[in-house]
Amino acid sequence: MVGAESKIDIRKLTLEQLRSHLTAMGEQAFRAKQVYEWLWQKSCTDFDQMSNLSKPLRDNLKRVFAIHAVNVNRAQRSADSTIKSSFMLYDGNIIEGVLIPAPDRMTACVSSQVGCSLTCKFCATGYMDRKRNLHADEIYDQVVLIGRQAQENYGRPLTNIVYMGMGEPLLNYANVLASVERITAPDGLNMAARRITVSTAGIAKMIKKLGDDQVRFNLALSLHAANDRKRNEIMPINEQNSLRALAEALKYYYAKTKNPVTYEYIVFDGFNDDLSDAQELAAFCKHVPAKVNIIEYNPIAFADFENATEDRIDRFADLLRQRGIVTNIRRSRGKDIDAACGQLAIKETENPTV
Ligand code: SF4
Repeated sequence: MVGAESKIDIRKLTLEQLRSHLTAMGEQAFRAKQVYEWLWQKSCTDFDQMSNLSKPLRDNLKRVFAIHAVNVNRAQRSADSTIKSSFMLYDGNIIEGVLIPAPDRMTACVSSQVGCSLTCKFCATGYMDRKRNLHADEIYDQVVLIGRQAQENYGRPLTNIVYMGMGEPLLNYANVLASVERITAPDGLNMAARRITVSTAGIAKMIKKLGDDQVRFNLALSLHAANDRKRNEIMPINEQNSLRALAEALKYYYAKTKNPVTYEYIVFDGFNDDLSDAQELAAFCKHVPAKVNIIEYNPIAFADFENATEDRIDRFADLLRQRGIVTNIRRSRGKDIDAACGQLAIKETENPTV
């Protein structure tokens, strides 16, 4: 008898590796493809539900393999229809993900790590320790579970995925890319890579690696200041990844992928909302083809920042637009349930459960 802890995590295996395991167990090789389809195309997390496999084979699978499924621990719906979920991992850790419905899209925001090792001053997750990286299947499971919420609550499928939840995706590089591969694969969820955005706080070396790997998904950089002094103040990662290093990495990335970049910019009241800040941002936008998303800030208990006034945000955006930069203002969603950008930090609130 194989103990639960010594079972093989079946979703860590490639199809070829699964085939080798099954043939070594005396099963026929073609069974591997069937099992693989159950795992990745049908998102099945229970061997007993794999109905075209014989009972002895299912028992054999259960004896040797484990599926480390993610489960919804709690789901809360915001007044604006956003749904935030806390997800329980197989080892008891908890992460969060968000469904953001809009008239023209259904977006899943997923986490890539349990906590975060970076310490961005405006972000609730930045005040938690990083416990561990998520495995590719744990990121995939968030997409599946949030996709089910989209269908069950709004009768529509997911259209977009953003890696903007807890954690820095590029510090969990291999698992993030493996999850994108499973989400986009024809024998996975078969979603278009163009519908996926990976957001980084700015790790220059890894941005170059994305270029070397010629990724097809979108890259967003959480910029929030186009001035090293200010950026160092709110994002300590900038001390080792200066704007000059980031610009160089982005040029390299663009040369390899021809993918434009999105800059995320939270406009904090009295900190980075001046026209001179907008001019610096416009200058930074010259390095590679880019657009800007201005994001409304959601104050958190740990930090002193406030959202800039609507007038100042509009003035800031106007300057960028006058310089020919495509600029969107993203009003925040899910504020009342702490589901908005920078608010994910595992806390219990009094809001109704879905
Ligand atoms: S903004 Fe992103 S990278 Fe920065 S602390 Fe929060 S989760 Fe980590």
